[in-house]
Amino acid sequence: MPTWTIISPCEKDYDHPMRMNIFRVMKTVYRMSDSSNEPSAVDEGKHIATLGYAMLQEKPGSPDLSSVVMHFRLCTQSVTQFVVTTSPMQFVDMARNICILIPPCKLTVSAMADIDEFVFMRSTSFRGLNNPVEECDLARRIWQQVQAKRYHRRLLQQEVIGDIIDFACYRTRSPRCSICDSNLIYCNGCQVASCESDNCPGSSEPPLARCGRHQKEVLCFPCFEERGCTAELEKCPECKSWCCTRDISSCNGHPIDIQLIPGLPGSKSVLPKLIVAYAKSARVHSPKRGCCMECELPGWRSCNSTLCWSKTICPECASGGVACLCQEVWACDLCAEYSPGVVIRCPRCDRPFCRSCSYIDECQDCHRAHLCYDCAEEESDVDDGVMMELPKFVASCGRCQAKVCDRCVSHSAFSCAGCSQRLCPSCRTSLCDDCKQWSGSDEESGTGGDTGADLDV
Ligand SMILES: [Zn+2]
Ligand SMILES: [Zn+2]
Ligand SMILES: [Zn+2]
Ligand SMILES: [Zn+2]
Ligand SMILES: [Zn+2]
Ligand SMILES: [Zn+2]
Ligand SMILES: [Zn+2]
Ligand SMILES: [Zn+2]
Repeated sequence: MPTWTIISPCEKDYDHPMRMNIFRVMKTVYRMSDSSNEPSAVDEGKHIATLGYAMLQEKPGSPDLSSVVMHFRLCTQSVTQFVVTTSPMQFVDMARNICILIPPCKLTVSAMADIDEFVFMRSTSFRGLNNPVEECDLARRIWQQVQAKRYHRRLLQQEVIGDIIDFACYRTRSPRCSICDSNLIYCNGCQVASCESDNCPGSSEPPLARCGRHQKEVLCFPCFEERGCTAELEKCPECKSWCCTRDISSCNGHPIDIQLIPGLPGSKSVLPKLIVAYAKSARVHSPKRGCCMECELPGWRSCNSTLCWSKTICPECASGGVACLCQEVWACDLCAEYSPGVVIRCPRCDRPFCRSCSYIDECQDCHRAHLCYDCAEEESDVDDGVMMELPKFVASCGRCQAKVCDRCVSHSAFSCAGCSQRLCPSCRTSLCDDCKQWSGSDEESGTGGDTGADLDV
């Protein structure tokens, strides 16, 4: 008897097209007989559901729809708790050994009709697949064919089209809209089909939600509603277009009370401590939604430090941030102060510079900065104490020219695999400029085995 496990905590991600329908039936059954274990969401992972059917003996190749059966249990149980049949619509409570009729509410009836139709279509495809990923893939394609037919039937009913069309064309891999010949798109949840073109009269009302950047992320309105805050799509509050939820910017809230002793020049232990401090700190607000990647909200910024406490920062939390003099780089107040090398301050005038400002030099290792070029011109006015603490540069990276001071030059460093020239930590996987010239395109193709630099101790 062919059988599939449709809802299983371990196989969460395959997205079988019957998941939602079986979940609806499961919810009804548990509500009626074991309400404390009623599943709340389809991806909750507390239950296991299998769907199975038998083939007709007398008519090989046709399923016996009276044999369609679902087994439900909690994942903590080893035996089936409920055995559900679609015709008649009923279930057996195995522990109590009683048979209960399922009331024919609209949602459950349509879920069971879909399950029957799916089993029928699946059984005509003789391929037996043992791999659950392939099985789900095939199931999705089969269900898309069913939905493409339903799409066409809807157009006939709405009298948008008049012709009888050849259903055989829905057997092909990608059926097209029978009005405008655009591609059909399918909801990722229930696979309902619609015309890709919003202007086509065949497009569903409301149109399917589809991410502007990821064309495969599609949800119909009912599935969108059903997923609630776990929906993968969200409307950008700014441009009102659909966008993957993971791509909508958000501010995690400025950490409260970060107290770090600014690292002594040369101490490298600041970074891990800073990350821990960010992670542990309370925040001024809970995550606040921003907008999609195409939009810019006034006052929202992103910090130049990759280790910042938030990828994007709302205006409230951005106050106190530091922009470098060239205005190319902005860092939040905390990263500007504690994260080495993000903002470079001149020890005399204290103005902030970024790494790409060719207006100040700092040691790539200990991050001590020299005077900015303006202050360097007035070197004679500088305090002797400040002068003593200025780094003296004695070497530089063979690729980006970042400087190294006399105190750090003897520390371990990376070197060019070609000529052993010194390289800074951010250039360590490259060749130096000279060697790159000779090696031609080797580095770009990534096939040259000699591009990794060794640690030169
Ligand atoms: Zn169309
Ligand atoms: Zn937007
Ligand atoms: Zn997307
Ligand atoms: Zn904020
Ligand atoms: Zn930051
Ligand atoms: Zn200065
Ligand atoms: Zn140094
Ligand atoms: Zn470099």
